[in-house]
Amino acid sequence: MPDAGNAAAVRPLVFHPQHARSELARRLRSAVEGAVLFDAASRGRYSTDASIYQVEPVGVLVPRNDADVRAAFDVCRDLGVPMLPRGAGSSQCGQTVGAALVIDHSVHLDRVVAFDADARTITVEPGIVLDKLNAWLRPHGLWFPVDVSTAAQCTLGGMAGNNSCGSRSIAFGNMVHNVVAIDALLSDGTAARFGPEAAMRGGGPRIRTLVDGLRAIGERERAEIEARVPTVLRRVGGYNIDVFHPRSERPYTPDGSVNLAHLLVGSEGTLAWTRTLTLELAPLPQHRTLGVVNFPTLHRAMACTRAIVGLKPSAVELVDRTMIELARSNPAFRPMIDAALIGAPDAILLVEFIGDTADIPARQLDDLCALMGDLGLPDSVVRMTAAAPQRALWEVRKAGLNIMMSMRGDGKPVSFIEDCAVPLEHLADYVDRLSAVFRKHGTRGTWYAHASVGTLHVRPILDMRRDGAVRMRAIAEEAGALVREYKGAFSGEHGDGLVRSEWVAWQFGPRLTRAFEEIKALFDPAGLMNPGKIVRPSRMDDTTLFRYPPGYRAEPVATALDWSAWDVRSDPVTGTVSAPGTGGDPTRGFGKAVEMCNNNGNCRKFDAGTMCPSYRVTRDEQHVTRGRANTLRLALSGQLDAGLASASVRDALDLCVGCKGCRRECPTGVDMAKMKIEFQYHWQRVHGLSLRERVIAWLPRWAPWAARLSWLANLRERLPGAARLLQAGTGLSSQRSLPRWRRDTFAPVQPGGPTTGRVDVVLFVDTFTHYFEPENAYAALAVLQAAGYTVAIARADAGDATPSRPLCCGRTFLAAGLVDEAKHEARRVVAALAPHVASGAVVIGLEPSCLLSFRDEFLVMGLGDEAQRLSEHAMLLEEFLAREHGAGRLRLPLVALPESHALLHGHCHQKAFDAVSPARTVLQLIPGLTVDVIESGCCGMAGSFGYDAAHFDVSMRMAELSLLPAVRNAEAATLIVADGTSCRHQVADGTRASGAREAVHVARVLVRALAPTAPPAVV
Ligand SMILES: Cc1cc2nc3c(=O)[nH]c(=O)nc-3n(C[C@H](O)[C@H](O)[C@H](O)COP(=O)(O)OP(=O)(O)OC[C@H]3O[C@@H](n4cnc5c(N)ncnc54)[C@H](O)[C@@H]3O)c2cc1C
Ligand code: SF4
Ligand code: SF4
Repeated sequence: MPDAGNAAAVRPLVFHPQHARSELARRLRSAVEGAVLFDAASRGRYSTDASIYQVEPVGVLVPRNDADVRAAFDVCRDLGVPMLPRGAGSSQCGQTVGAALVIDHSVHLDRVVAFDADARTITVEPGIVLDKLNAWLRPHGLWFPVDVSTAAQCTLGGMAGNNSCGSRSIAFGNMVHNVVAIDALLSDGTAARFGPEAAMRGGGPRIRTLVDGLRAIGERERAEIEARVPTVLRRVGGYNIDVFHPRSERPYTPDGSVNLAHLLVGSEGTLAWTRTLTLELAPLPQHRTLGVVNFPTLHRAMACTRAIVGLKPSAVELVDRTMIELARSNPAFRPMIDAALIGAPDAILLVEFIGDTADIPARQLDDLCALMGDLGLPDSVVRMTAAAPQRALWEVRKAGLNIMMSMRGDGKPVSFIEDCAVPLEHLADYVDRLSAVFRKHGTRGTWYAHASVGTLHVRPILDMRRDGAVRMRAIAEEAGALVREYKGAFSGEHGDGLVRSEWVAWQFGPRLTRAFEEIKALFDPAGLMNPGKIVRPSRMDDTTLFRYPPGYRAEPVATALDWSAWDVRSDPVTGTVSAPGTGGDPTRGFGKAVEMCNNNGNCRKFDAGTMCPSYRVTRDEQHVTRGRANTLRLALSGQLDAGLASASVRDALDLCVGCKGCRRECPTGVDMAKMKIEFQYHWQRVHGLSLRERVIAWLPRWAPWAARLSWLANLRERLPGAARLLQAGTGLSSQRSLPRWRRDTFAPVQPGGPTTGRVDVVLFVDTFTHYFEPENAYAALAVLQAAGYTVAIARADAGDATPSRPLCCGRTFLAAGLVDEAKHEARRVVAALAPHVASGAVVIGLEPSCLLSFRDEFLVMGLGDEAQRLSEHAMLLEEFLAREHGAGRLRLPLVALPESHALLHGHCHQKAFDAVSPARTVLQLIPGLTVDVIESGCCGMAGSFGYDAAHFDVSMRMAELSLLPAVRNAEAATLIVADGTSCRHQVADGTRASGAREAVHVARVLVRALAPTAPPAVV
């Protein structure tokens, strides 16, 4: 048992009388400009972070400015309500959950306040995200070098709160080594700049009393500080009382003087609110080399680390065998990790060297190779000197935890001893002995991360719904004994929060624990700042604070889609996963799929990738994949009153455009697009559908009539005022043009092509292409035939009830949650294509969202083996042509076009299925054509989403993030290529006012480039 001193087992302050909550909300609303969120769903979304805990906050404030925070402090102080500052909420230990008013600074408080290039300092508001800050600094040749793995999400305020540390801490230190000053607000309303102690003595009486009090504690506890505070670089538990008597391997200040901002760093929001931070910057490293050392055993890797650190690298990072295998099982990571391997190592160390001139890191890399020879491992180093493979491998390493969390079943890797730090000479023994502890307790751990500083991440797999709490404590106690024996730190990176504050007394002893309480009382006498963290903690295994307490169970749900792949059990030791559908989940796996979200916040992205477009424009926790998954989880487990088909869930999913960005980019594979279909199914069964939703959903059924009466169907575009009338009646935005119905729908002269006998390919012409843009299908047919393939057109099976109606994938039904109707359409497709698939033909489609549903949604509709086989034969036109080209089989006679440049915009589903690069490959076959891919997320149209008047604004803002500016800036002679019909529509609508641009399907570019000698198409 940890020696919890006299502070143990005191529960966090709990504040929830309903009348006080209403009073707080009322007063806040009249005092602040920012959002005041007190509804159950919002509080639920802020009740978790990346830890195992869940505590409902009193309410949430999203301040617009500093004045809002001050006003909130005044109101909270008046009512005695605790306050909890929060950034991205990516803490792993429960720092940001509590029964308090959560103040989320990540939305609006993210400005750069001051910058001094010569002094290499910058002052920022707490909500600025690290990647954004570093992007801002790049043109100045500078960076903030505390490079945490969550750089794309974490805020500087949160980094300071946790005393965060990056992979390169051995060279640059932790947050505490890089913060110069903090402008803070105390809970009593006092504002002060925390910096050098001497300067602070010139402050007002409140601050002088504070500084004197702190100094007195520091002097009094000198001996205890020396006896109890570990000397390792990575020690982030407790308060940094060692500012007064430095213990860190790396001094906090160059001259050993006391800077009281360093006491706030790592204080987890328990002492003061950080209003701005002044940071020390470093020059951007000019040259880097990476040596990847391959080891036959993990023990050997750890035993060699100390010698490697002697070479003065900027980072030494461990990746073990399990992590290597998990990374190799992910198609996106496999090539990156394979490039680093020699044979099948048990562990690798990524050893990085940096320097201002190229020769320094190059020489150090040579030294590494020589050292490994001396240590008996010659030829064990993969030398990576080019930037691209280095970057790629760092991405794999940074994704470490997330790769590990993709494990299905109730057993999950749990953070509680994941960041213990031990001196390097003991690292190998520590790993061996802790692994034995895991075995003893019937679990295992995967090892990775910061070998350079003795901080290895390891998370034993535990099932918190069953016996996880008991085993967690037992393992923590044995791990703690090892850390003590090796004179290490119990927390070397992630902090205390709810999981480790109990261990503060164990680490620092009763005297320093009391000193910490005194420090807390000096700053925050009323105990209003993030209570229950660092001092006066709860127990780590208090199951009432767990997100998944023992007995946690979701309510039964009769799902429309097949989620059985998630309804499994996994063995914590062997990793064996039981058969789909055997996990005993009353939601048939749907709940388990939702619970794959571990709240790490990776979806709070702004720049890279696609995920999550709605968050990028609203920055609202409700509109990010994490917020949606949390809302669903709460609804499914009966924690939101009205359950799954409730308005809270609808609101959270309303702006989800079903782009599938999360399906690909969420590290644990949360597939919100599919979850939205499931939700829509339940919603429409309870609440029905609006007229607009019904009209759009049933489009495939009434389309033949609209085509025949196209003059009538297109009337809205010609009659003045009709668009507005239609908006009033249906909610279809009057600001949108509508697709033009065609009388000349797709009808090739030889309708089926050579339908008898075996064909090479079957062209699936979707509803949108058929009725609105048949020229795309003609183009594709011509291109395929010019390349010498025999083509059949996909048509309904002769036994079909409506054989003359074109085939349709059913997407419009799916989007409305009409899953039964979508299944009907899907069955027609599967039946019609089965004979072709059986004969080995490739099924080719043009519209990404239609064709790719054969490889996605069709597989969760219970359509049987034929659907599975179809999915294996279904390709987009560009995927097929690129494959044939790669295999050396493509004979497509192409000539140069008048245009020499094309801009390619990938449809979200193309991106989700890695199908953008084939489009680029194929376009590049056109002589003289350079192709650039627009680094864009969702175009904002997303099927019918952008046609809805209520979504028009968000839709356009999504498009304005990158797609529309890129199109507007393109030369008039540049081709704009987009394979999605809605993307093309968005380009047309979004450029109408500024010189209309037309985007075209890749097939239409190719058909124009066909050599005149190409055989005429049989159309
Ligand atoms: C997958 C994954 C990888 C991670 N990798 C790393 C890593 O490499 N290195 C590392 O150190 N950590 C890592 N973490 C932990 C976490 O991401 C970092 O600690 C991060 O810096 C926290 O930033 P945040 O904005 O999410 O802060 P939050 O989690 O929102 O807050 C962190 C703490 O700071 C306090 N705080 C926030 N804002 C203020 C303010 N304005 N005033 C006072 N206190 C405030 C909060 O109350 C809380 O106690 C990782 C987490 C995950 C999930
Ligand atoms: S949805 Fe995925 S990326 Fe977002 S927090 Fe959950 S697990 Fe992380
Ligand atoms: S499908 Fe797209 S919009 Fe919806 S949650 Fe996923 S990334 Fe966000």
